[in-house]
Amino acid sequence: MTVRPVVPIGHPVLRAPTIDVDPGDIASPEMQCLIDDLIDTMRHENGAGIAANQVGATARITVIEVTHNPRYPYKPPIPLTVAINPRLEPVGDETVVINEGCLSVPLRGDLERLVEVRVRYLDREGVEHDEIKRGLTAGTWQHECDHLDGRLIVDRIDPRTMATWAQFEEHQRDAFVERITGFVDEVGS
Ligand code: ZN
Repeated sequence: MTVRPVVPIGHPVLRAPTIDVDPGDIASPEMQCLIDDLIDTMRHENGAGIAANQVGATARITVIEVTHNPRYPYKPPIPLTVAINPRLEPVGDETVVINEGCLSVPLRGDLERLVEVRVRYLDREGVEHDEIKRGLTAGTWQHECDHLDGRLIVDRIDPRTMATWAQFEEHQRDAFVERITGFVDEVGS
């Protein structure tokens, strides 16, 4: 198990769009090792997902998993997913305001996400997937694909809602959890 250091905001690797992986390279020991390290690092940091550039790598890979997450206890579970060369497409134009955090950013804040997206990606065996994601799960996919495109939550957050984690807990958490729990009940994810 290798937990790699998470790159904080300000490092240029977070601003560089990642590079598509050649499908012929997915099975290589280097790529499989990077995937294992991403999973270990995400779990160690209690992230809901992590993108390869958050550990300084340039490959277009993200891993996502939500079990019981102390950082985001209101998030519905997502089984461990390895997404290589993921691409998102909007489905409809409905949006929801989500309060998001990020392992690379020491603040949280409100931003708008699409409620439904289509995701296409390869898994770590090179198998193609084409799936519809909804609700907070769709938000997580948008967050990770933003990373892979060189974007961070600070690009989208309404600056007046920015808060440290401690201030969020004290002043915003209860109202957000109540609203977002209602949303999760409505959309089912
Ligand atoms: Zn992030």
